[in-house]
Amino acid sequence: MFTLPPLPYADNALDPVITANTLSFHYGKHHKTYVDNLNNLVKGTEYESATLEKVIAETAGKPDKAGLFNNAAQIWNHTFYWKSLRAGGGGKPAGRVAAMIDSDLGGYDNFRKDFAANAVSQFGSGWGWLVQEGGKLKIVKTGNAEVPLTKGQTPLLTIDVWEHAYYLDYQNRRADYVNAVIDKLLNWDFAAENLGRG
Ligand code: MN
Repeated sequence: MFTLPPLPYADNALDPVITANTLSFHYGKHHKTYVDNLNNLVKGTEYESATLEKVIAETAGKPDKAGLFNNAAQIWNHTFYWKSLRAGGGGKPAGRVAAMIDSDLGGYDNFRKDFAANAVSQFGSGWGWLVQEGGKLKIVKTGNAEVPLTKGQTPLLTIDVWEHAYYLDYQNRRADYVNAVIDKLLNWDFAAENLGRG
């Protein structure tokens, strides 16, 4: 059985950038529903005792396995998103991540502008990502449940741009949500941990 991982903080920890109202629905309803759906879908299949990563890897790009992929990938994406955020985060990183942002992405100010533009311009539902690929940092986006994992990329940070992530707090103002997350919530310690995996 797949389980809903605990939130790494209280549901009001990111308030007011992301309110407890948004977080309680997003985690307690949306994230939980993906877990419930996946548990129903894997019943009696070869995936019943597989890891989430194995389900994602083996169902990606297969139209007849779309239900399994979408729910498994959305569980993974949301768990990664919660870890990508922290109270008192955001702003300029330090250390190796900062050096790579300078060398690969033209410095922090360019990163900030490009990471926001990338997330804001995702048409419809999806995700903005900072990833490592071939030893370099890149800014990429994915639609719906798609994950960088299946494209040989190591995710460092993500931002959820499905409307359910921001509509209760920002209505249609996705850019305001994205910029507030970049400036106040991005968890650069988590990014640095992920860099070691790439
Ligand atoms: Mn979401």
